[in-house]
Amino acid sequence: MDEPTREELDEWDRRIVWHPFTQMAEYEPLILQRAEGCTVVDVDGNRYLDGTSSLWCNVHGHCHPRLDAAAKEQLDRVAHVTALGCSNPTTIRLAKRLVDIAPEGLSHVFFSDDGATSVEVALKMAFQYWRQCDRPRPEKTRYIALADAYHGDTLGSVSVSGVARFHAMFEPLLFATDRLACPNPYHPPSGVAEADLLEHAVGELEAVLADHHERIAAMVIEPLVQAAAGMIVHPPGYLKAVRELTRKYDVFLIADEVAVGMGRTGKMFACQHEGVAPDFLCLAKGLTGGYLPMAATLTTDRVWQAFLGNYAESKSFFHGHTYGGNPLAAAVALATLEVFEEEQTLKNMQPKIARLAEHLDRIKTMPHVGHVRQCGLLAGIELVRDTSTKEPYPWQEKRGIRVCNHARTEGVLLRPLGNVVVIIPPPAISLEELDRICQAVENGIRAAVA
Ligand SMILES: *Cc1c(COP(=O)(O)O)cnc(C)c1O
Repeated sequence: MDEPTREELDEWDRRIVWHPFTQMAEYEPLILQRAEGCTVVDVDGNRYLDGTSSLWCNVHGHCHPRLDAAAKEQLDRVAHVTALGCSNPTTIRLAKRLVDIAPEGLSHVFFSDDGATSVEVALKMAFQYWRQCDRPRPEKTRYIALADAYHGDTLGSVSVSGVARFHAMFEPLLFATDRLACPNPYHPPSGVAEADLLEHAVGELEAVLADHHERIAAMVIEPLVQAAAGMIVHPPGYLKAVRELTRKYDVFLIADEVAVGMGRTGKMFACQHEGVAPDFLCLAKGLTGGYLPMAATLTTDRVWQAFLGNYAESKSFFHGHTYGGNPLAAAVALATLEVFEEEQTLKNMQPKIARLAEHLDRIKTMPHVGHVRQCGLLAGIELVRDTSTKEPYPWQEKRGIRVCNHARTEGVLLRPLGNVVVIIPPPAISLEELDRICQAVENGIRAAVA
């Protein structure tokens, strides 16, 4: 078959490929062909710095020699082995490694293939646990989740998510969830000062738990940062308080670290910033350094034990994904963890985190910048029509998109969340590259609010 022409690629991409979260009637193809380090290159040879880590996934850069070699070596052995009643050495080694580095008590690993499925697995495991543990409590069937949460796009994960613009339409298909306000320092509830936000949010949680814990199976949370909600950073201490309260009321804590895990916040797992060990830890995105689809749900021995029994008791976890635990993905995930050590990734992130903070300090003073927030190498810049009243720009004005369109003309790829400009470079970014990304953001904001 002949190679398609540049025009054919463009035309097929508009007409045949259905892109996620994309209005196809307005879609303008951006066709990336190759990459090296933190730079991606399109079919016309244009080079862009990857300011989104390929949608929050990439860690050590693209085409990293160690990760490439790990994939190729595994390819010479076997590309896929089912995990249903079967195993392979690479996936076993990865499970062992994850358990070794995870917060205390997380001693078992269930593999799937995407962030949404890692959450779906945790929700179902928690539910099933309460039906078949030693002293069953089958009335524990509900979940607590935060407003504006994002846990993925399968129906179970959407049920605990709360981004109205994406999810309201599917309401009739979803199960009911007990919803708490998102502790957002820029928009505290009316009558609550920012300094009192933590106490207020913890009080609200305790009230719900005190009244309803008998029927609540688990609380699900994105630790420290609600990423898709607009990089909203919770007040320090909130996660720790959530852990203490869920433990007090015997409600499981599901930590969705799909976005914040794998080093993004400057520690391997966000929970470690507050010394928290959840009952379930969900990982995906950065797990393979941004190479291959893979997800993991880690859990405790307490949960594992409740699923043990005779075959005839049917206590097994009847859930699985064909590609769960795929050895090719596992080989790259294992190499990703090794590179964290070899390249001292977490230590080397510290000056980059500080540099990003310096840039944000400057950007914070620009007209129409309402709020900036940062956690490690995750940052959000919220643009508003009026900084004194916090009046938002109507989302239809696409202010965030305009910033990113401008940045692209300066060779920087970004993707906004509504009116929030997001900066998530790979942890492998250099200081000089980070400077260029932030400069493009600054110029983009100036152009977009003019
Ligand atoms: C991206 C994301 C998911 C969903 O992951 P997919 O791999 O896209 O299914 C779930 N939770 C959080 C916090 C995420 O950021």
